[in-house]
Amino acid sequence: MRRVVFLGPPGAGKGTQAALLAQAEHLAHLSTGDLLRAAVAARTPLGLEAEGHMAAGRLVPDDLVLRILAERLRQPDATRGFLLDGFPRNIAQAEALDRITPIDRVLSFEIPGDLLLRRLTGRRVCPKCQTVYNVETRPPRVEGRCDNDGTALVQRPDDHPGPVETRLKVYAEQTAPLLGFYRQRGILRSVDARGTPEEVSARIRRQLEDPR
Ligand code: AMP
Repeated sequence: MRRVVFLGPPGAGKGTQAALLAQAEHLAHLSTGDLLRAAVAARTPLGLEAEGHMAAGRLVPDDLVLRILAERLRQPDATRGFLLDGFPRNIAQAEALDRITPIDRVLSFEIPGDLLLRRLTGRRVCPKCQTVYNVETRPPRVEGRCDNDGTALVQRPDDHPGPVETRLKVYAEQTAPLLGFYRQRGILRSVDARGTPEEVSARIRRQLEDPR
């Protein structure tokens, strides 16, 4: 059983790595950002409440996020192990998570600030299958079109400069304290998040296989 949290600033590559690892290891990929974006797209009451916070780059209120996550954790695939991507994002969420499930390991994605900005502003996503591209580092085969389904790629509203600045500030103020929280428990490991997805993926595997 593997219950892993990916921790790191926006743009560190958590989503890309979680998708790769989830597929290879048959783990459920639980991204609160993806769950929230799906709720926004479906115009559910929860989505409508979350939308403004997300567009501005602020955190969505804890009770909404917890509701959506608890529901997802109850799905059968999540009982065999999971990767949490984008949750928890503050101490209150980490404490709430403790009450729902134990966590085996937390991986901290380490990356310099200038690289983060390049990844965030260059990011494009397929609105249909959620595959993530980057205009500089991982362009699609045909410009502006998804490799899988040909759908026109979009830029997330919160990848524009104003919201990006807010998200980085929110990370530093509210999420970074979780590093100390999990270090104290002895389950935190660091991963150098620079380089290609394959390079980062190999480092993550080494950290997860290390029994210490
Ligand atoms: P992400 O895709 O993880 O970058 O998340 C996109 C946006 O969704 C964030 O900027 C927040 O507005 C919201 N969000 C995602 N996960 C959480 C969370 N755990 N707590 C609060 N807001 C979240």
